[in-house]
Amino acid sequence: MPSAVAPDTALHPLDLKALDYSVVQQCMHCGMCLPTCPTYNLTNRERHSPRGRIALMRAIADDELSLEKEFVDEMDFCLGCLACQTACPAKVDYAQLFEVARASGNKVTSSPRPPRVRFYRALTLGFLFRRPWALRWAGRSLRWIQRSGLFEAFLESPLTQWLPSKWQRLLTMTPVVEEKFSDDLLASSERPSNGAIRHRVGLLTGCIQDLAYASINRDTADVLLEHGCEVLTPRSQHCCGSIHGHNGETNWAREVARKNIDAFPLAELDAIITNAGGCGSHLRHYGRLLADDPGYAERARLWDSKVRDIHQWLVAIGLKSPSTTTSAPRHRVTYHESCHLCHGQQVTREPRDILRAIPGLTLVELRDAQVCCGSAGVYSITQPEASEALLRDKVTLLLATRADIVATANPGCDLQLQRGLKEAGSGMRVAAPVSLLAEAYRHQRG
Ligand code: SF4
Ligand code: SF4
Repeated sequence: MPSAVAPDTALHPLDLKALDYSVVQQCMHCGMCLPTCPTYNLTNRERHSPRGRIALMRAIADDELSLEKEFVDEMDFCLGCLACQTACPAKVDYAQLFEVARASGNKVTSSPRPPRVRFYRALTLGFLFRRPWALRWAGRSLRWIQRSGLFEAFLESPLTQWLPSKWQRLLTMTPVVEEKFSDDLLASSERPSNGAIRHRVGLLTGCIQDLAYASINRDTADVLLEHGCEVLTPRSQHCCGSIHGHNGETNWAREVARKNIDAFPLAELDAIITNAGGCGSHLRHYGRLLADDPGYAERARLWDSKVRDIHQWLVAIGLKSPSTTTSAPRHRVTYHESCHLCHGQQVTREPRDILRAIPGLTLVELRDAQVCCGSAGVYSITQPEASEALLRDKVTLLLATRADIVATANPGCDLQLQRGLKEAGSGMRVAAPVSLLAEAYRHQRG
């Protein structure tokens, strides 16, 4: 199956040597980003800091350093969390540098990744995340295995000891596939029940979100309908491509971006709504990704202008607070920020506004809420030690809040926090802010 997938090795305009030099040059070496960088804080080594990584990128762009395995390893160790971008007074576009550096790193042929890693990348990035039908087929198969009890039985059996440690880890991190996917829960077009349409929006259902959190997509549509939005959920939409972009597979990221642009009736929509932090950050940059594609460049810019994070959209159109009832369930809730929502999209206030608007919830701030939980796409699989260290710190801080719910708006964070809390023996619930809001509307209706 993966052998049918063409490797993404063609020289692409998004290459460190071809990148607009002003982007590489922006860093003025002030070091303001260092204290915010999780990998620098873990190691105290300059090379594991944003400044160190940018210096390496610049040396490659200047032909002073050749692309070697050490560079690839360094970029693989970077979480791509973008905390450095928020901290940077010079507004260095680290997101762009990171994606281009990873894409450049994929061209290193002198010391290629081990066959196991190349197989995994080809299977996931090259096959499953480019074909929604294949991902759903894999999801249905996994759901059957999980429901039958075979998965649990295999996890508890001695057979797992024969697997490499990273595969064992991958198994324990496998998300529980939901009973229904987004296409089962959402019609392709839904209108508010009272018929009054204030806005027309498209809804992105995601890939992992679709398999493991389709109920959050249903909650998102419910909340949009409650706000007078007509919701279009095109069946032909694809994965947003962030997983490809963050792993340097730029050609595949461009391919799925084109498919998404074709899937949505852009001119008819007021906004394209995303409810996953990691997706939103990438979805806002289709214009840059397709800037050199004459067939798509203009539509990609239009796309960028319409992408909105769900929290940002609701607050912008006038958040409708659920009515206060004495029977509203009382909870102490804290909020963990998805890196790509707070650093990638600068959306920090709106999710908190939503949580504060829900009757019965008391919001308690989480210390270092903006620090990465160690999920970061496939980071928890590729860099288990660093990922675990970050997760341990996060769980300690979560427990200190004495909250019974932690809200977060990204499936990767949700999975990571669930695992960390479970391993710590905590019963704290992990939930999306938009789901808590949808629950409050349902409670209001009785
Ligand atoms: S993206 Fe995150 S881990 Fe990478 S250099 Fe920036 S702050 Fe450090
Ligand atoms: S804060 Fe910005 S300018 Fe300063 S060292 Fe970090 S990336 Fe460079």
